[in-house]
Amino acid sequence: MRKIKVAVIGVGHLGSIHARIYRHMPEAKLVAISDINHSRLKEASRQLGVPGFADYNQLFGKIDAVSIATPTRLHYKVGRDCLREKISALIEKPFTSNLTQADELIKLAKKNKLTLQVGHIERFNSAFVATRKLIKNPRFIECHRLSPFPYRSLDVGVVLDLMIHDIDIVLGLVKSKIRKIDAVGINVLTPFEDIASARLEFSNGCVCNLTSSRISDDVMRKIRIFLADSYISLDYKNEDAFVYKRNKRGISKKPLPIEREPSLRKELADFLKCVKNKSKPIVCGEAARQALAVAIEINNKIWRRKN
Ligand code: NAD
Repeated sequence: MRKIKVAVIGVGHLGSIHARIYRHMPEAKLVAISDINHSRLKEASRQLGVPGFADYNQLFGKIDAVSIATPTRLHYKVGRDCLREKISALIEKPFTSNLTQADELIKLAKKNKLTLQVGHIERFNSAFVATRKLIKNPRFIECHRLSPFPYRSLDVGVVLDLMIHDIDIVLGLVKSKIRKIDAVGINVLTPFEDIASARLEFSNGCVCNLTSSRISDDVMRKIRIFLADSYISLDYKNEDAFVYKRNKRGISKKPLPIEREPSLRKELADFLKCVKNKSKPIVCGEAARQALAVAIEINNKIWRRKN
């Protein structure tokens, strides 16, 4: 089996995990890494046993595919440069800083017949995968994604940093157009919103409330989905899910059987499979663009209200 030659650009918190996973995947050969932070690059290169380059242009000609885990403001430039060099790309979320950039990357990947995937990792969460087939016609959805202040990813607000995960999941679950968006957000420790609440109303009547915070004491990543005859409560962090149903005595609660496997490993395996087979990724550029469009609209509502 020919191994896919991969590299990781940006080996900070998340990129270093991408690199470690690729290193152990039989279908991949981790060829090199790149980071502008010299001490980080040197250490990661030593630990992984692969060459490290400060300039990602040095990777060109050596690889078939790349994970891009730089700060968001660089996703477009780095993604564009790689796609131009005929390298398939898995770009971390949020896809890009704006929709024009997203459209350009989608077009470029199509033109060069390359795989373009975006790192909306919750699609690969084992609890979500187990639950997905039970979810038909949601009527009401509630999402909570709270975390302590990260001291990273501060080039965007909490909507593009955290809420976008839930937006992507919800858009995949509700097969209807958004009719109305309301949102409120507050900046506390950064110039961007650090806590935000949004309400999406869909044309088919489904309503979705999203709450995200990056200034919370506790970590919470939950979604509650109300269907016509049942209610599903899913915890992404603990990777468990319960189905609640009305019965003669009240409400029954049953855990869903879940085969747990690390989400990022599954995400990277999906990427490599798509690169090999030229198939469409679960989170393709178009899907990520849709989530980005809604996130930007939520942001606009927040900042219009504030100003
Ligand atoms: P980080 O700051 O820890 O890492 C970013 C790295 O990129 C740093 O090491 C930095 O030196 C490097 N970098 C900057 N410019 C570069 C360049 N020109 N060439 C090469 N390297 C460069 O940030 P992080 O938390 O790892 O986040 C990285 C990306 O991953 C962000 O887009 C973030 O939104 C995303 N992310 C996604 C998830 C998820 O759940 N999917 C979780 C965390 C972060």
